Amino acid sequence: MKNKGIFAALLDMIFPPRCVFCNEILLPGAKVCKKCAKEITQINRVKCIVLPASGKTISCVSPFAYENKIRQSILQFKFHGHRDFAGIYAEKMAELVQNQFPEISFDFITSVPISSERRKIRGYNQSELLARSVSQCLSVPYDDCLVKIKNNREQHKLSEKERLKNVLGVYQAKNTEKISGKSVLLIDDIVTTGATLSACAAMLYQNGAKFVACATVAEV
Ligand SMILES: [Zn+2]
Repeated sequence: MKNKGIFAALLDMIFPPRCVFCNEILLPGAKVCKKCAKEITQINRVKCIVLPASGKTISCVSPFAYENKIRQSILQFKFHGHRDFAGIYAEKMAELVQNQFPEISFDFITSVPISSERRKIRGYNQSELLARSVSQCLSVPYDDCLVKIKNNREQHKLSEKERLKNVLGVYQAKNTEKISGKSVLLIDDIVTTGATLSACAAMLYQNGAKFVACATVAEV
C-alpha cells in the first residue's frame, strides 16, 4: 500500500488533478475547484414516476439540476468522450441512493440501454458507465439486463404525450430469471418526464422484479 501511495503521489505531480468543470489545476485529492463548487447546487431531488400501464410508482433520485455547469459537463460526458466524469457523478448518486432507500438491499444495478448503432458511433453507453461506477461505490453488482430492440426518435424533441408513445415496445429484458424476485436500481444520465425510465422499469416489473428505483445525475 505504501508503494501505491508513493506512485499515486508521483502521478499527481506529473499529471496534477484538474477540476472536471473548468480544468483548473487542483490540490491532490480534490475533484472540483472552489469556484465551480460554489456554482453547483446539489438539489437532491426525488421524483415520483407513475408507470402508465400498471399504475405502479417508482422513485427517481437526482443529486443535481440540469443547468449551468452540470448541464455543460453532462453534454461533455455524453457526446464528447469525457468518460472520466462518471466517477464524480456516481459518488453523489450513490450517496443519495443510500439516504433515500436505506432499508433496500439492491440485488443489482442496471442501466437504460442505447441502440447498438449509437453505441458503435459513441463508443460507449453513458448510462452504463454511470451504473458501473455507482455499482463500485455501493458494492452492488452491475448487470446489463435490458436491451433496446427498436430505434426510436430522440425523446428531447417530443412532447410529454409523444414521449410515452415513443418508448413503447422499445426496451426488452434479456434474462427473466435474473430479474425475478430482485430489487433493482436503474440508472440513466438525466430524467425529464420519466418516460424512458418508466418504460424500462415496466419491463423489469413485467419480468418479476420485486422493487425498482431509479437514479440519474440530474433532473431537467
Ligand atoms: Zn473549476
